Amino acid sequence: SAEMPSDLEISRAARLLPITEVARAASIPDAALESYGRYKAKIDPALLREDSARGRVVLVTAMSPTPAGEGKSTVTVGLADSLHRAGQNVMIALREPSMGPVLGMKGGATGGGYSQVVPMEDINLHFTGDFHAITSANNALAALLDNHIYQGNQLGLDPRRITIKRVLDMNDRALRDVVIGLGGPAQGVPRQDGFDITVASEVMAVFCLARNLTDLTDRLSRITVGYTYDRRPVTVADLGAQGAMTLLLRDALKPNLVQTLAGTPALVHGGPFANIAHGCNSVIATSAALRLADVVVTEAGFGADLGAEKYLDIKSRVADVAPDAVVVVATVRALKMHGGVSRNSLAAENLPALQAGVVNLHRHLDNVRRFGINPVVAVNRFTTDTDAELGWLMNWCAEQGVSAAVAEVWENGGGGPGGDDLAAAVLRALERPADFRFLYPDEMPVAEKIRTVARQIYGAADVEFAPPALRRLEEIAARGLEHLPVCMAKTPYSFSDDPAVPGAPSGFTLHVRDLSIKTGAGFVVALTGAVMTMPGLPKEPAALRMGVAADGTPSGLI
Ligand code: ADP
Repeated sequence: SAEMPSDLEISRAARLLPITEVARAASIPDAALESYGRYKAKIDPALLREDSARGRVVLVTAMSPTPAGEGKSTVTVGLADSLHRAGQNVMIALREPSMGPVLGMKGGATGGGYSQVVPMEDINLHFTGDFHAITSANNALAALLDNHIYQGNQLGLDPRRITIKRVLDMNDRALRDVVIGLGGPAQGVPRQDGFDITVASEVMAVFCLARNLTDLTDRLSRITVGYTYDRRPVTVADLGAQGAMTLLLRDALKPNLVQTLAGTPALVHGGPFANIAHGCNSVIATSAALRLADVVVTEAGFGADLGAEKYLDIKSRVADVAPDAVVVVATVRALKMHGGVSRNSLAAENLPALQAGVVNLHRHLDNVRRFGINPVVAVNRFTTDTDAELGWLMNWCAEQGVSAAVAEVWENGGGGPGGDDLAAAVLRALERPADFRFLYPDEMPVAEKIRTVARQIYGAADVEFAPPALRRLEEIAARGLEHLPVCMAKTPYSFSDDPAVPGAPSGFTLHVRDLSIKTGAGFVVALTGAVMTMPGLPKEPAALRMGVAADGTPSGLI
């Protein structure tokens, strides 16, 4: 609303606790704490006390996103603050923002209003340097690979079949396709290459799925970097790069401790894309939070069809982190958009559109139940929502037998009462034990896994594999990789592969263009539609509004 200060203004006005105090309140021993200034620290999971009882996980996900915004991170932070306020021993586990989108469209990814993790200007920019370390580990691998080719190419790597790219944490479309090694025999072997954004790299996915340093080395070793002239896969282990890569990632692998505006402890660590990768913070951070707190509130990227499905089918296979409750964030505005209202008419009350759009939420709730978990709906209240609209939506949830609460944590969070109802609903959900099950078993062949996700989660009638995807399926069978889970790369805006189809479509065919075999991360990416691994900047980038005053005060982060 007009009177609300900006997210950055709210963050700057907050009185933060010294991070040592946050750590003490969270039972983190001094020996495990490595301070990065006054308000940030890394923690060493190896030095945490052993706790017999694992905490419970609350996974926050959402209906299919729209340009109207859903506020998943805002609700994640607000819910944790409200649980804290209710006397729970709670901790947050969140992704680290990527600088590319911060400078491009988003302007920040640390929650909003009075539900934020702080200091937001640090977390949104360089933070503790983790993304720098991941970028460096990836680019060390790329340099070692091209040097191998230059020094005689003993492995017989085919320069036209290299599957890794150099990365940087920036939206820079000019680097999508480049030619390297130009300038004559002393300057390397020319080949067509390209850059990805750091968060789209397999090193980022590996970083976020590794359980410890040994597991990190093992997973890095298994990354497929390319193919030989006779089409045999070549891995990081063949190049011998895993030792240096692990060394470059050693400090980054320790989770980062920060706090919310209300002083709730938060581990913010790792941040893979939610399309080409699994879109969740690191396994190490979630597992550490589960040893420290009774309740861990965490978030998965995009809507529940992508982020939550991957949290459940990929991350929960790697470690004991399966959720005990799932919160599905919905907004009246987004439901109206799914019901056909255009973005500039969202402020007007429109019950028929709300009723038409609720099918999208309905499908997501059914999907959560397929995993044996009872969902809780969090209605993230915007100032334009009318009482009639909120009343209708709450009534619809009651008719569906779904527990729901209106959350006012954006306006009235930060330790205020705006999330009390939601916290109470979540605590009630935690009282009923979940009966968690994966959507598919490991032994189901990869093509069948893709069909299962497409039919059961998306509502597709069938899947069509294009010829490149069929060739990859043959390779998966030949390499003995059928046991891997699938990581769907699909538009978040629709259950189908067409971003223009809102609501809850069914009977469509899902088109799988190609598959990408991530032997390090341990999943097969199914590419549908156009998937961007190096975003570009918009016409008016958020960066053009940013600056710093003479006293160091930042401006322009949203
Ligand atoms: P997501 O995690 O779904 O991408 P965020 O929580 O990052 O969404 O919120 C995106 C933006 O929307 C932030 O700038 C935040 O301040 C704003 N926002 C979130 N909830 C509300 C709300 N209830 N009213 C107004 N603005 C909100």
